[in-house]
Amino acid sequence: MTISPQNCGHLSAARLRAADPREAGHVLARTRRDFLRSAAGVAVGNTLLRSYWARAAASPAKRKVIVVTFGGGARDQETFAPEGQENIPHLMRELIPQATFFTQVVNRGILGHYVATASLATGVYETINNFASLPPQSPTVFEYFRKGLKRPSSDAWVVAPSNGFNRIGESSHRSYGSGLGARVILPKHLLTAATSGRSDDYQHLLRDNYETPYYAPELAGSEFELQQLEMILKLSVDDFKAHAQTLSSPDELSVYIAHQLMRQVSPSLLWITMHDIDIAHAGAYSLYVEGIQRTDRLCSDLWKTIQSEPEYAGRTTLFILPDFGRDYDDDAGGNGFQHHRTGDVLSRTTWMLVAGPGIRENVVFDRAMESTDLVPTLGSLLGFSTSLAQGKPIAELL
Ligand SMILES: [Zn+2]
Repeated sequence: MTISPQNCGHLSAARLRAADPREAGHVLARTRRDFLRSAAGVAVGNTLLRSYWARAAASPAKRKVIVVTFGGGARDQETFAPEGQENIPHLMRELIPQATFFTQVVNRGILGHYVATASLATGVYETINNFASLPPQSPTVFEYFRKGLKRPSSDAWVVAPSNGFNRIGESSHRSYGSGLGARVILPKHLLTAATSGRSDDYQHLLRDNYETPYYAPELAGSEFELQQLEMILKLSVDDFKAHAQTLSSPDELSVYIAHQLMRQVSPSLLWITMHDIDIAHAGAYSLYVEGIQRTDRLCSDLWKTIQSEPEYAGRTTLFILPDFGRDYDDDAGGNGFQHHRTGDVLSRTTWMLVAGPGIRENVVFDRAMESTDLVPTLGSLLGFSTSLAQGKPIAELL
């Protein structure tokens, strides 16, 4: 049976049910590949042809990387399937034609947002408690980057969606850790500090997580946040509060902060974790889809900012990938889109989009790779060692 754009989503569902997990992952990847070929005209990449990063314009010292996690998980029915593509017009029409797209990024770790993001950032499947305020156990990419290239703390930043992510920038590993990590900015914490706790007008921007139980530490003190705002982001409290009133969601707030950071500090390694989509846990399908549509638009906004900021234009590689997916409708152990608790193939088989100078455009690869391959790939692109990471550099990008 041939897969056409009209039937590939459904075919995938039927075949996924019948297949063993490994085969089901391949089926899903090929289905995504065939959908992108027919809906976006993307060519299938030849793994033997290397990219030409080494010959790209920017010298290694000037290269920058921005990683966006497309959280918290979206399924193909709502994205890369015929019935989902209307939700991601910016990815489909603007980004994919300029990108290399990988259809089979498998996450074999724990499917909780904090621990999965920590795994993406360390290249090791972390086993820390998802609901505790703990640092990753293995060195993060930020530590490898800063130690390997002797970069200052201002050159690696994380913009994180939840106060529970406050430890993501730096591991507890004894050879790395203390003082070598990324600076972490928590936009909600910043907003709380700026409004001195009188935040009634901003509640829609301050919701900290969509799952329970969730330990979101009460972060003490607002001095450091206000200092970040004024000294680093060059924003007055009043300007920040006024602009925040024009924003509709926590991720919009994060992207606003990221833009400000790019303009004022221009870090070479910037990691932005999106989280609006995870509102799916509340059970309202329309809010989940709205989250996907917003994330799609915000990814495009970031790409445009990269092209328009002199510090980033022509030298920045953008990585977009989900931390993991969400449950499949027919799995009796779950409740469809609402959660990610069954550990089924759909919730583990994600994708990755990469764009920037030296990265091939409009190609798709469907071989299996792992979430842990991200960190070694970043190390190879920017020229630092990631010796304790489990994954392998992605050859198609190097
Ligand atoms: Zn979630």
